[in-house]
Amino acid sequence: MLLVCSQRCGGRLFRALFAEVEIDSTGAYQDHAVIQPGYICLNCGEPAIDLSEVPNAIEAEAEEDSTSVVVSDVLCPVCETMVQLDAERECPNCGSPLEVG
Ligand SMILES: [Zn+2]
Ligand SMILES: [Zn+2]
Repeated sequence: MLLVCSQRCGGRLFRALFAEVEIDSTGAYQDHAVIQPGYICLNCGEPAIDLSEVPNAIEAEAEEDSTSVVVSDVLCPVCETMVQLDAERECPNCGSPLEVG
């Protein structure tokens, strides 16, 4: 397991949310039941992610990226915004048509 805070706040303590603890009338631990998987960061309270369970998802994304359309950077001649051209051929900032290459 490799837990990280989804906000990457640097917190290193996490609380497991998946268990309900059963106690007796004096508050002594009796048993626990697994309800749902999940963890929160104790530092900022945001959800935490188990990185050991997501490498497959990351690999799938990386493959998609490598097969995607070639993107080229073009400087808009009107407003001088650096625009990444793929399907769109106009400046997102000022709407000017852009030429590739
Ligand atoms: Zn955090
Ligand atoms: Zn522009």
